[in-house]
Amino acid sequence: MKKTNYSCIECGAKNVALFQVFSENALTLQTCANCSKVIDKYVEYDFTVIFIDILLLKFSAYRHVLYNSNTKTQLSRLLALTLLSSSYVEWVYQKAQIQQRSEFILYELEWSFYIMIGQELIKAALFSFTFMLLGFISSKMSVYRETFSWTHMFCGMAMSYCWHLVTVPSLVWKHYSTYRLLSQIALLISCNHTFHVCVCRSYVLSAITVLGAWGVQQIITPWLQH
Ligand SMILES: [Zn+2]
Repeated sequence: MKKTNYSCIECGAKNVALFQVFSENALTLQTCANCSKVIDKYVEYDFTVIFIDILLLKFSAYRHVLYNSNTKTQLSRLLALTLLSSSYVEWVYQKAQIQQRSEFILYELEWSFYIMIGQELIKAALFSFTFMLLGFISSKMSVYRETFSWTHMFCGMAMSYCWHLVTVPSLVWKHYSTYRLLSQIALLISCNHTFHVCVCRSYVLSAITVLGAWGVQQIITPWLQH
């Protein structure tokens, strides 16, 4: 039985192979049986181009990363970097607020950096769990559903979480709340793309899933901070 693991980046149809090898130096990209376009043009592209297309929130770039490439190692490193960076930015912001209210510098706040990492981790885990659970339920409800995969959903969530890196420039240029708002908007749009690629193409179900996960995260945040 043939494996159909690869996904056409244009229409999402499953295909057997991305390219056909004729000799050691000759191969040709395969076209999709459903839409007649090249299944995955990104196979020949440099990583920089793919990265820019991800920043431009193109569905095709999301399909390439989630279905047709092996980027789990790089993604896990980027995820760890994002967690540490976003925790540090949030910690610096909260530390500045406390120092404005008090004449004393609270050196024990250094310990609170590790607590902040724990809080960010719990928030991210809760958001991801709610998103994937609602995504799984949505996949059962939708007629035009994709083949649901927890692994692809998790990788999509990891990609979306990396949008928290948007807050890092606020360390230099201030305006933390503006950068945080931008990162949250980008995160929600990216989650919508993950849902669209991994679950189904219903924007209604996508909006319910993304906003549901975001709402749960907003409810739990005050509890974590006290
Ligand atoms: Zn296609």
